[in-house]
Amino acid sequence: MQSLKEQIKHIVEQRDDALRKVLSIRDIEDLRVLLLGKKGQITALLALMKTLSLEEKKEIGPLIHALKQETENCCDQAKEQLTMHILAAEKAKKEHFDVTAYLPKMGKGHRHPYSFFIEEIQDIFMSMGYEIIDGPEIETESHNFTYLNIPQDHPARDTQDTIWIDRTLGLLMRSQTSTVQVHAMQDKKLPLAVVAPGRVYRQEATDASHDFMFMQCEGLFIAENVSLAHLFGTAQTFLKKLFNKEELDIRIRPGFFPFVEPGVEIDMRCPFCTHGCSVCKKSTWIEVFPGGLVHPNVLTACGIDATKYAGFAFGFGLTRLVMLKYGINDIRLLHSGKVKFLEQF
Ligand SMILES: [Zn+2]
Repeated sequence: MQSLKEQIKHIVEQRDDALRKVLSIRDIEDLRVLLLGKKGQITALLALMKTLSLEEKKEIGPLIHALKQETENCCDQAKEQLTMHILAAEKAKKEHFDVTAYLPKMGKGHRHPYSFFIEEIQDIFMSMGYEIIDGPEIETESHNFTYLNIPQDHPARDTQDTIWIDRTLGLLMRSQTSTVQVHAMQDKKLPLAVVAPGRVYRQEATDASHDFMFMQCEGLFIAENVSLAHLFGTAQTFLKKLFNKEELDIRIRPGFFPFVEPGVEIDMRCPFCTHGCSVCKKSTWIEVFPGGLVHPNVLTACGIDATKYAGFAFGFGLTRLVMLKYGINDIRLLHSGKVKFLEQF
């Protein structure tokens, strides 16, 4: 008897001490299990009652039942108090949360160098009255080659150069943005002044200066009485604005491309040096712009009267100009998604 009373006293002390120290709801539930669970200390005392005499039961029974009830109440109360305390703490935290607080080491996103550059190019051409257009990246063989006066046996049509999706259906990943020219000539009214920046694809082993995907920009101007002088003026104005140079000489060399006649290569004076540097390979000239007057065959194939209208077209490697402008020496970096690289811009 005496030992049972001792045990009850001990349980009460242990319980009150534990409740003073609880830090979480979990602590309270653990204590409840320890005392009132299937194998709990109070449950064990209740089981012991069976072994007692009637007299003893009368004396100790109410004590054990009271202990059980009291313990349940204590645990409930402690849980309620703790919950209120947690809610109050959360509310205070929200009230004092400072949305303007500085968070160290937070990465800040920004646009890709391509995006800056394309916007710059678009601004320059829009200021000259050009419309910016877009076209599909999966193209038909006709749009990529035939309409552009590229003969059936031209090596560019080969699977070694072009990524074909379905050779029998004549579907491929466009290998040049000139395809957008064709769509513009077929769909739009004349006169026409359009610029089309976009991705192109080639069957290419990648290294620092080659990639299977890169960006080009195509320009097309068609009206009556258009001459090469218009092309040269446009190219020079564009390059001056792009490289922020008041004066920027260009020079013209003959070039051959099936979709223009005559075809030219336009070079610009190196904007980075006066006496030769690594960018211009010490020559002070940089090759930038293949172009020319649109071949009458191309105009005719696209439904334009080649005896009345003429036009010039040009195309440049947008990727190459991005690399030139920002001094990037590995084309693969542009598509790598490497944060260390992108953070420089
Ligand atoms: Zn140079």
